Amino acid sequence: MNLCDVKTVKDIMAMFGLNFQKKFGQNFLVNRSVVEDIADNCCDDADSTILEIGPGIGTLTRELAQRYKNLVALEIDRGFIPVLGYTLGEFNNTAVINEDVMKADIEKILAPYFEKGKVSVCANLPYYITTPILMKLLDSGLPFDYITIMIQSEVANRLCAKAGTRDYGAITAVLGYYGEAERLFKVEPYNFVPPPKVTSAIVRIKLYKDKPYKPLSEDCYFKTVKAAFEQRRKTLPNALSAFFADIDKEKLTQAVIDCGFSADIRGEKLNVGDFCRLSDRIYQIRQER
Ligand code: SAM
Repeated sequence: MNLCDVKTVKDIMAMFGLNFQKKFGQNFLVNRSVVEDIADNCCDDADSTILEIGPGIGTLTRELAQRYKNLVALEIDRGFIPVLGYTLGEFNNTAVINEDVMKADIEKILAPYFEKGKVSVCANLPYYITTPILMKLLDSGLPFDYITIMIQSEVANRLCAKAGTRDYGAITAVLGYYGEAERLFKVEPYNFVPPPKVTSAIVRIKLYKDKPYKPLSEDCYFKTVKAAFEQRRKTLPNALSAFFADIDKEKLTQAVIDCGFSADIRGEKLNVGDFCRLSDRIYQIRQER
């Protein structure tokens, strides 16, 4: 079965009475070498379980099922469940669940697989929901090994940006707290049916087993990052002051200086370690009151 053949994809869709649904971001990969590259690179341990979000008709799913021990696929569109029964029929290591990943109890679904070994995520995501899905996976606290996602190229740049660059933002500093993101390769629109309007890229995140930065309060770390980027054109003390309205501006300015920065620095210059030190100072100021 060649699911990378456009005619086969269209025949299968017709056979099951389905149309590509824009609201679910249904753009299917039809380039075998891209599909194989994603499956080869999303994880480095064949004994792993892979959680695939949005299998569609099963193109990437089949490649993952061939390479890894177990495959769990979450698909929101009920119409694809019988299709996946057909395209994955020859595999006995796959489980397909008809659920919206944003509503699914991922911890419960994956508990038996975490008991058996490593679990990684691999997904060609609908663009409109990339960040919420990524944040849900990270916030879950589940010990994923890798999270590999195909996303809009510009978003990929943001996830992998270095501090001080134009693309560096709150999402970079939040993601950098959980793991290391690496941009693998670009995927042009002609590799999909129907072709999307934007260029995509693959990002692989290796999650830290033991996080190198341990803020006194995670909540304060995320708030400090949010504060710094909510008004990124302001100097850091001004941005912090607009956000932490309950703390004197002088104290926030002093916290920035205590961390070794000048008072006119902007938040985009701070890396994860810097944000961690600053959030610890802010946390201490709160505790001293
Ligand atoms: N994996 C296939 C591929 O690479 O060709 C399809 C990828 S397509 C870009 C996105 C898939 O995610 C579609 O099958 C869509 O129905 C599914 N999807 C969209 N939103 C979802 C959600 N919230 N939960 C689970 N699946 C979702």
